[in-house]
Amino acid sequence: MIIGLACTGLELSLLEECALARNRIDDPVARSRVPCGEENWSSPYGSGRRWETPHYRLYTTILDPDRLNEVILLLESAHRAYSVQLPGRIEPLTRSTIYLFSIRSQWEAFTRDHTGPCAEMFLKIQEGAYCFNGSCIVYDIGPERTLAALAHEGWHQFTSRHLAFRLPSWLDEGMAMMFEGIIRTEEGFRFSAAANACRLDSLSKAVVSNRLISLPTLLAASPGEVLATDHSEPIQAFYSESYALVRFLLEADRGLYEPDLRKLLADGLWGRWPLDPPSLAMAADRNVPKTLEWNRLVGPWLFRYYVTDDLDEIESQYRAFCARLVAR
Ligand SMILES: [Zn+2]
Repeated sequence: MIIGLACTGLELSLLEECALARNRIDDPVARSRVPCGEENWSSPYGSGRRWETPHYRLYTTILDPDRLNEVILLLESAHRAYSVQLPGRIEPLTRSTIYLFSIRSQWEAFTRDHTGPCAEMFLKIQEGAYCFNGSCIVYDIGPERTLAALAHEGWHQFTSRHLAFRLPSWLDEGMAMMFEGIIRTEEGFRFSAAANACRLDSLSKAVVSNRLISLPTLLAASPGEVLATDHSEPIQAFYSESYALVRFLLEADRGLYEPDLRKLLADGLWGRWPLDPPSLAMAADRNVPKTLEWNRLVGPWLFRYYVTDDLDEIESQYRAFCARLVAR
């Protein structure tokens, strides 16, 4: 069965522009390594359970055991899928924290209590999820869409924790959408970029109306910046076209550009991008909010360095790839 994410837009790396120092949400057991299992979670947000898996600590007020089993299976499947995007074996010493609430009012109360001046921005999210200071905070938007939202946000959490450098928006969002297309298997879940009807539908609208964002603009764009100008179509366009661009790099010409993308990610993992000192400092220090200017500068620069400097030529290939994607 294929699972897709609803296209409601306001998922948030918007917080990248939120000027709040990076203080982790207090997690009283963050350093423990107790075996996988569950116990009661007492919180002001409702009765809940705390689950631990090999790579995640899940605090949740969803109590249905079948739903929880799916979430836990999805999280570990996603962690494996994230890891294979990078060289080597990533084995964190501590688990990643996820808060999954059964209803929006619990999620809103938690957001108000823990995100300080960013709260009002997060509360504009229409459905789903955001990552904040190392934790993912999600509420139930239905069995399948919740899984897709967890898989998407989980990528942001993974890169934030394990890559030496933060990724520019086109790459971070484009990669996150590679995990929104979820397929159930007998063993659990696998992820298929092609099984993402939502992004393909949005891309199709842009292609048909001949309104694809130009490649230089896409590479420099920040979701928050796009959102600032319009609350619907432009942000969908940014996401669907970032999705298409990452697929282009992975798939076009039988993977011609895939090694370039892999090298870009690997050097981000190891902290090897040859940026200028100020850009390097912001890439490495997650305590400093990522600025629009950093994204505007570094997003295109990395593409030019690792993929090609000839944006005109590759843009024509990218546009032809987009047309083929939506014609299938
Ligand atoms: Zn995202």
